[in-house]
Amino acid sequence: MKIAVAGTGYVGLITGVCLAEMGYDVVCSDIREDKVLLLQSGNAPIYEPGITSMLKRNLDAGRLLFTADPKIAYKDADIIFIAVGTPENPDGTANLDHVFEAAYSIGLNLDKDSIICTKSTVPVGTNERIKEIIHSVKPAHIEVHTASTPEFLREGNAIYDFFHGDRIVIGTESEYAVRTVEQLFLPLKIPIVNTDIRSAEMIKYASNAFLATKISFINEIAAICDKVGANIEEVAFGIGKDRRIGPQFLQAGIGYGGSCFPKDTKALVQIAGDVEHQFELLEAVIKVNSRQQAITVQKAKELFGSLEGLRVAVLGLAFKPDTDDIREAASLTILRGLLSKGASVIAYDPVAVPNARIIFENAIDYTTNIETAISGAELVIIATEWDHIKHQPLEKYVQLMKKPIIIDGRNCYSLREVSKHSITYYSIGRSSTQSKMAEWHHKPPILTREGRFDETFTSILPN
Ligand code: NAD
Repeated sequence: MKIAVAGTGYVGLITGVCLAEMGYDVVCSDIREDKVLLLQSGNAPIYEPGITSMLKRNLDAGRLLFTADPKIAYKDADIIFIAVGTPENPDGTANLDHVFEAAYSIGLNLDKDSIICTKSTVPVGTNERIKEIIHSVKPAHIEVHTASTPEFLREGNAIYDFFHGDRIVIGTESEYAVRTVEQLFLPLKIPIVNTDIRSAEMIKYASNAFLATKISFINEIAAICDKVGANIEEVAFGIGKDRRIGPQFLQAGIGYGGSCFPKDTKALVQIAGDVEHQFELLEAVIKVNSRQQAITVQKAKELFGSLEGLRVAVLGLAFKPDTDDIREAASLTILRGLLSKGASVIAYDPVAVPNARIIFENAIDYTTNIETAISGAELVIIATEWDHIKHQPLEKYVQLMKKPIIIDGRNCYSLREVSKHSITYYSIGRSSTQSKMAEWHHKPPILTREGRFDETFTSILPN
């Protein structure tokens, strides 16, 4: 089977490289020639653990090609994945220009019967439009099957997720498409969910909306914990033990960001609005998230009054650890807030500095060395829970800062550890009083079936 992938971003590149790793012949295309040239030379334009070695291995094996020429890309393709971006329009709707352009280009260049699968996150009804576009330009004798195959990978764990996903959704009316796409992924032994096209499109939005809801929910509980003197980590641990709830996405912090949740939640509100349904719950989720992203700068204002000239180190730029993606990251809201108040900012991130530099240019200082960031700072704000940050010894803040003040937006440090140092420390939803959970912050105990604590302490939250 020959596979083609349109788009070499976080989704398209992972899909193409991992399919090649499975042994398929894959051609990935992108309209950006600079990306194609970089990829042809074995370098990934994104940071994703494991991608470079897998990319090089499959280029060397001759199973993987990159091109900016759609004629080469779609020639002889049995299955074509559309994985181009669907960014947010100013009104919150999904911008489908790239998807429709890709569909048009695919239709024009098809030279055999093919299955077109859309991995891009698109509103309900879009795959029908994709089909129409392809049919309007394809050669008459060629048969086309379409399917919605939404993507669920997590940046930072994308390769693992490709090979060990929870499910593969195939939304199509075509028996042939289901059987062929099932066959493609069969070696992965991942459960297949076969639906109609519209349900598959909705599954993607509903999944992201639900996960975003969990995050905003726990952040609301954290806000109340702060006021009533409870500890959000004990609360999250306690409710997460309920299997109906589960422990994931219950980590309080400064909110979700990234290329998916912010735009997909807003797009779903719009999709609902288009059919005269006001999605009040999701509107509240979005509102809570905006509030969370703003709280560190508000706290800084409370503490210092004026931020004019204050030297602030922002630790973490990526929207989450193990990615260089800063789209809609909480760090952006923080940096904009600090700059608007006249602060002098230095930002640390192990991999995302080049992306931040495109936005902030010379308005802030950058470093990939955490101690350089902290040195001489009057305030540290932690925006991403990178391991490099979680493992930064607290005594370094005492040694390197003028007077150590930390606003920890990701609850990276245990209160017990912090209490051993003379640091002014604020975190999310954790009262400053010592608690059992604070002591166990990094290795919380697991309650066994017998109701005793297991001897092996395991983290409740994914790294
Ligand atoms: P991205 O912006 O990183 O990459 C998109 C790529 O498509 C770019 O390189 C762009 O140049 C290219 N492109 C645009 N038009 C093209 C065309 N006509 N032909 C070929 N290439 C073209 O986007 P992404 O983060 O990979 O996301 C892609 C889609 O997958 C989006 O709809 C997104 O919502 C969805 N998604 C993303 C993630 C994620 O974690 N990033 C996870 C699940 C789903």
